[in-house]
Order: sequence, then C-alpha cells, then structure tokens
Amino acid sequence: MVKILKIESSDVRFPTSLDKTGSDAMNAAGDYSAAYCILTTDTEHVGHGMTFTIGRGNDIVCAAIELLGQRIHNKTLESLVANWGETWRYLVADSQLRWIGPEKGVIHLALGAVVNSLWDLWAKVLNKPVWRIIADMSPEEVVRLIDFRYIVDALTPAEALAILQRAEAGKRERVREAEENRAVPAYTTSAGWLGYDKEKVKRLLRETMEEGYKYFKLKVGTSLEEDKERLGLARSVIGYDQGNTLMMDANQIWSVPDAIEWVSQLAEFKPWFIEEPTSPDDALGHATIRKALKPLGIGVASGEMIQNRVMFKQFFQAGALDVCQVDACRLGGLNEVIAVLLLAAKFGVQIVPHSGGVGLPEYTQHLSTIDYVTVTGKKSVLEYVDHLHEHFLHPCEVKEGHFVTPMAPGYSVEMKEESRARYAYPGQEGVSWWKTDEAKVILEGEKI
Ligand SMILES: [Mg+2]
Repeated sequence: MVKILKIESSDVRFPTSLDKTGSDAMNAAGDYSAAYCILTTDTEHVGHGMTFTIGRGNDIVCAAIELLGQRIHNKTLESLVANWGETWRYLVADSQLRWIGPEKGVIHLALGAVVNSLWDLWAKVLNKPVWRIIADMSPEEVVRLIDFRYIVDALTPAEALAILQRAEAGKRERVREAEENRAVPAYTTSAGWLGYDKEKVKRLLRETMEEGYKYFKLKVGTSLEEDKERLGLARSVIGYDQGNTLMMDANQIWSVPDAIEWVSQLAEFKPWFIEEPTSPDDALGHATIRKALKPLGIGVASGEMIQNRVMFKQFFQAGALDVCQVDACRLGGLNEVIAVLLLAAKFGVQIVPHSGGVGLPEYTQHLSTIDYVTVTGKKSVLEYVDHLHEHFLHPCEVKEGHFVTPMAPGYSVEMKEESRARYAYPGQEGVSWWKTDEAKVILEGEKI
C-alpha cells in the first residue's frame, strides 16, 4: 500500500517575458509558469504534477491545488486507482469548491495538477511511463478511467469500448514503433512567436527544417500586412511543394466575422489550419468559421483553452473543428483527456495536443502516444517548443523529426529541485531569481 501523507503546491515562474518567448496576439508578455503539485507518501515514491499558467495568478492555482489535495490526504493510491472513473467524480464533487467552477477555471487547472500527480505516482510505483500503463490496459480498463455522466449523449461506454477494441488490432506493432521513437512526428512553433524579428524567424525556420521538421506554425492576428509579410517569408523558406506544412495561430483575437474576413485574405499562403480564431467557448462560432473557410481549404483548430470534456463534446457535435488541440492540464488531468481522445475518435477529428508551454510537451508526448497506440491507430503530429526542457529530470526530446518516446517511469514533469528553488515565486532571498535585481524589470514593470 502507498499512502498519501502530504500534498504540497509550489509556484514556479520562468521569466520568459524578457525575450518575448511565447508572445502572440493576445499574450504579449508571458512568464511561463508551473503551479506544481507534489504528493509525498509513506514510501520512497513521490508524485509530481503541474498545471501551466503564464505568470500572475499562478499563486491562485497553487492555493486551489492545496484545497483540492485535501480530498486525497491519507488515502491510499490503490484505493484511488481501483476505480478511476469514480475517483475522478469524487475529486470534482466537493460541493463548496465546485461552486467556484464547476469543472472550469482555476479549480479545474488545479485538478489537472492533482490528477496528473496521481498518475505520475502510480506510474512510478508500477515502474512504467504513463503511456505504457494505458497501452497495457484492456479496452474495458481504459473505459473505467472515465466519468461518462455529461458526455454519454455523444459517446456511450459501449461506443468507447468498441473504439478501443478496434484499436487492439496492430497495437503490439504500434507499441514497438513507439519504442523505436517513430510514433509521434513533431512540429515546431519555435520560429513563430510574434515578438521575433524577421531575420530571427528566417534563421529559426531554416534551422528547424535542417533538423527534419515538416510542420511549422506562425502566430498571426495583430496586423494583416505583417501577417502577409511573415507568412510569405515563411513560405519563401519552407516552399510550397517540398512537403512542408504551414499552420497559423490567432490566439482568440477576432470576432467570428473578423476571423473569416482576415483568414480569407491569407489563403494564398495555403495554411493547413487557423488555430483559435475566436473565443474558446464559442462552439457555434467556430462552426460558422469552419464552414466559411472550408471552400478555401483552410481548417479550424482549437482546444488549448477549451475547458472541459463537455465543451469539447459540443464543439464536436457542432462540427466546429478539424483539429482538436486538447491540453494536458487545463482539463482535469489524464482521465478527462482520454475522454476527449475517445470523443474525437468517434467524431473523426484529428488530435494534435497543445504543447506551447513549460512542461506541456513533457506531458503531451504521452498523450499523442496514447492516441496512436491505444485509441486511433493513426499518427498525428505534436508541437515541440524548444525551451525550458533543461529544468526537467526527464526532458522530452525530438530526433529526426519525431518525439523520443518517454521510457522513464512517471508522467515526465518532475522538475529538478534546484530549478524549482531558483525560479520559486516569490522565492527565497539569495536563492530565487525573483529576488534578484534582474527581476525588477518584470516585478516593477507595467502589467500587460
Ligand atoms: Mg495556440
């Protein structure tokens, strides 16, 4: 038995706003942050989970992690994983905490950290990477991970079972492919942040092409003229006929009609999709945009801020998405993500998990592997953002345009202790970067 004795949160912030890493049409200056959850047990095993934010407010999520954590205090891991679907329902059923959601916003971000820390702990106890736990489950066991209450009108347990049973064929070969690091092709946004100048964009595109990438994403949405210039620049490097794919991300900047108008004017650059054209809550708006852009050959992608499986259900039912960019920790952890993978499989929508943030590719490499090996049997692509990996014990890695499948036991987001101390916020004098003079430019600067 493994008993959970202590649930702690920690607030870790990396000062990425200094060089505009992560800048886009809505998020001008983010400090990539982790609201971190650590489960201490009566064994040597420690569970690590996190959720991603971009700075201010990370402390609010940390407070929510500690409140939610009380629900698993003194419980055994075995009792929690015996019926995961029930456990997940129990974790969202604290009636007082539920009021400040339900199943959305800060409390749900916190749930993502708590649930994923349980998966990390379980995986370490089983001595397997998380994706492998799922690969080794029977279809019936995977179905038992999910709380179907609010999605059963779109996906019944029997339908989920049928999807998983279909995928049993060829699963062993796909596991072998995963072991050979060929399961998850990578794409990159490293060149595409809005704050980068043209020379930097060009150089980064060339470099990433040479590393074997075939998919490239650029941020758009602040100036149509500049978008045309940057997309033209990108196409001049990656070409139109060299098997390279271009994607665009607007980070929710437009109204529905503005999205249609603006994106139509970028059709000449032949993007695969426009990501987050409008509010992430607007399922019907996305459907309108998708319908309008379809004749131009441009798809619609969203998901990094779609807040739960219920919203995803509505996006799918409305025919609003070509690509589902589910996030690993905005949703309530792996269980809810698997519900979305199965919904997407039923509605025939491709999964490309959201990875633009610290720790996110570490998580999503598992999700894409699960989608390929256990759910769809179809390869997709996964975003790789080339920074901040050095802070993790088992950082994700891309080789020859593919993710190197994680093999270390756990969910891959365990951060080095010295990194957590160095970037702790507000942090300790003499230890934390946030107590240095360098930090003043952010701490005393304008809040944008
Ligand atoms: Mg995005």
